[in-house]
Amino acid sequence: MKQLVAILSGAGVSTDSGIPDYRGPAGLWQRDPDAQKLVTYDYYMADPDIRRRSWLMRGEHPAWRARPNPAHTAVTALAATGTAVRVITQNVDGLHQLAGLPDRKVLELHGNARTVLCTSCDDRTTTEQALDRIAAGEPDPACLRCGGILKTATVMFGQALDSEVLGHARAIAQACTVFIAVGTSLQVQPAASLVGVAADHGARLIIINAEPTPYDDLADEVIREPIGTALPTLLATLTATTAEHSG
Ligand SMILES: [Zn+2]
Repeated sequence: MKQLVAILSGAGVSTDSGIPDYRGPAGLWQRDPDAQKLVTYDYYMADPDIRRRSWLMRGEHPAWRARPNPAHTAVTALAATGTAVRVITQNVDGLHQLAGLPDRKVLELHGNARTVLCTSCDDRTTTEQALDRIAAGEPDPACLRCGGILKTATVMFGQALDSEVLGHARAIAQACTVFIAVGTSLQVQPAASLVGVAADHGARLIIINAEPTPYDDLADEVIREPIGTALPTLLATLTATTAEHSG
């Protein structure tokens, strides 16, 4: 059987790049409930002041200076060996693509913070352009095409996941031979349920996470080592296995 490696990547994959886990136990959302309003759809759409603060937060976000780390690079390296790889990510930082993985191999369950979307006409621009306009004195920049409210192309609290992206992710979970959940506590649905889908369809399930997850009992292997070394080591063994099989 041809190998298809699916990698579900969570916030833990980006922490080595200096991006904090906002949802985690020590995350911003827990410390400052008011901050959660900045990424909640109804508040954002209703209140220009929330949008102004939300854009300020985006401008200060460490993701703008973040570079891919060895975990991202290892995934790209595995894909470069000819092994079929698909990344399903809960991260919105675009670091898998910055590490050289083609866009079509990355499914972004929660969207992408580097792209801006008009909530009225769906026009797409870059977050960099929006931040430039904010720096030039527009605290809540409107769509240049229709005047509509702009937001990053991320899934905010109160918004549903893109059903097409989710459907594609389920299909990959069903078809893959190896499913690696890495840096995710597997607490957020429906992303976490993909683990069960993959296991039901016979994939070898590997979980890499510092803390226990609800799916550990289902896994063929649970790894508690730091992601920056554990993922490259694991993916290197997969490359070796693939090379043996292909002769
Ligand atoms: Zn528009």
